[in-house]
Amino acid sequence: MEDCIFCKIIDGKIPATVVYEDDRVIAFRDIQPVAPVHVLIVPKQHIQSIREINENNGSCLIDIHMAANKVAEKLGIWDKGYRLINNCGADAGQTVLHLHYHLIGGMAMGPKII
Ligand code: AMP
Ligand code: ZN
Repeated sequence: MEDCIFCKIIDGKIPATVVYEDDRVIAFRDIQPVAPVHVLIVPKQHIQSIREINENNGSCLIDIHMAANKVAEKLGIWDKGYRLINNCGADAGQTVLHLHYHLIGGMAMGPKII
């Protein structure tokens, strides 16, 4: 996807602070962190949102979760815990239309919506 900012990061066309990468997933620091650890876990395949997940591409969700565990361990927050958040669509506030999960941690988090 030519105009997708996360595809450009995956292709190395724009910089990012990458904390984990394998052949299917990349994880990099969010440019506007809301917590001491705020990393975006992104499948390398361009999928717009979790609404586009199906039987052909759904294995990327396992890849994302395994990558999240590796990132949490690497960044020292695995034992204390973290949140993995996905925003899907306009009402949820999704701004980048390439599926991603926010991994947030490094502090005790406040009230939960759910
Ligand atoms: P969402 O609002 O759930 O779609 O999340 C998109 C996230 O991408 C936001 O938290 C942004 O701060 C982050 N973001 C946008 N552009 C970049 C970038 N070039 N590098 C790192 N994070 C970015
Ligand atoms: Zn993309």
